[in-house]
Amino acid sequence: MIPFYKPCVTGKESVAIQQALTNGKLSGNGPFGNKSAKWLEMRLGCEKAVLTPSCTDALEMTALLMGIEQGDEVIMPSYTFVSTANAYVLRGAAIRFIDVDPLTMNLDPNLIEDAITERTKAIVAVHYAGIPCNMDEIMDIAARHGLFVVEDAAQALMSTYKGKHAGTIGHFGAFSFHDTKNYTCGEGGALILNDSAFMERAEILQEKGTNRSQFVRGEVDKYTWQDIGSSYLLSEINAAYLSAQLEDADAILQDRMASWELYQQGLENLAGEGLLEIPHVPEETRHNAHMFYVKTRDGETRNRLMKFLRDKQIQTASHYVPLHSSAAGSKYGKLVGEDKYTTADSARLLRLPMYYDMGEEAVRYVIEQVRNFFKA
Ligand SMILES: *Cc1c(COP(=O)(O)O)cnc(C)c1O
Repeated sequence: MIPFYKPCVTGKESVAIQQALTNGKLSGNGPFGNKSAKWLEMRLGCEKAVLTPSCTDALEMTALLMGIEQGDEVIMPSYTFVSTANAYVLRGAAIRFIDVDPLTMNLDPNLIEDAITERTKAIVAVHYAGIPCNMDEIMDIAARHGLFVVEDAAQALMSTYKGKHAGTIGHFGAFSFHDTKNYTCGEGGALILNDSAFMERAEILQEKGTNRSQFVRGEVDKYTWQDIGSSYLLSEINAAYLSAQLEDADAILQDRMASWELYQQGLENLAGEGLLEIPHVPEETRHNAHMFYVKTRDGETRNRLMKFLRDKQIQTASHYVPLHSSAAGSKYGKLVGEDKYTTADSARLLRLPMYYDMGEEAVRYVIEQVRNFFKA
């Protein structure tokens, strides 16, 4: 069976974890946590990275930092993971979902302005499949209307837009190190703060609302409750695993990119014949080979292809059920404008196996079976 994904293991993680055990500090912001945060700051070229237990938590922190409250509105694509919306709904916000651009499955910037009201606080840009959104347009609209921009870059570590790293362009960026993502530590995430005004408060929110970080640095002689907050710290054991992955970030990227390009070359003929669509990567972006998907003519064909591949021992996956049509999504938000592509394209989309060290042979086998499906 070719699995749909496998968590990335380079083999160097156990050495780092053993070192963390020897260091005798297992809670958050230890040596491996600090090293990984520094790596992100240096590599992405951002001022401050904060490691969190998940991308979900990083998004929740943005809701607190922006001061989202009851009745505020947040704009985002309906085609995304539940955490993108939940983070703001937890603070009482109403979600204004908009349609995607079918070329990238990212939110269509042309639809943002119609969704803005006097209650709008923020736009959340989700870089689907690690392919960055049109950030220039999004930042421009946000600046004109005085809105925050959050990049849900869960899938987009190492992707760039006009040479800038995804996650470093909006006011906030959120990454995921869940084991389905390119770089992992089982469960983990990072919050990128691109506006220094939020740094001090982020530290307090992360430490249960206390100034414990100042205490650890010797700036105060005891720490006390200062603000609301929660436990948004990544365990040092996870950070050790993560640090080993980040050290090999380029090798992991190259390996995934080789599989992605093989898929592209192997399937572009079928795309040329109009039998399926393959991902479109805009000129000004570089992606990180997070995902390779195909879109069939309709949902019925997608389901048949999925079953055909399963019979050939290939595991594939569909993706997001549009949030605006889910039980919670219709309660806490609504779609503004037309659903031209979200529902229809979600039904046509199939994600092919993609993981670190997948190997050329496995990718070629999947390509061959997709071709066989369309021959039959
Ligand atoms: C994976 C993912 C998340 C959630 O990440 P966790 O680290 O599991 O909390 C959020 N948004 C998007 C777009 C994702 O792909």
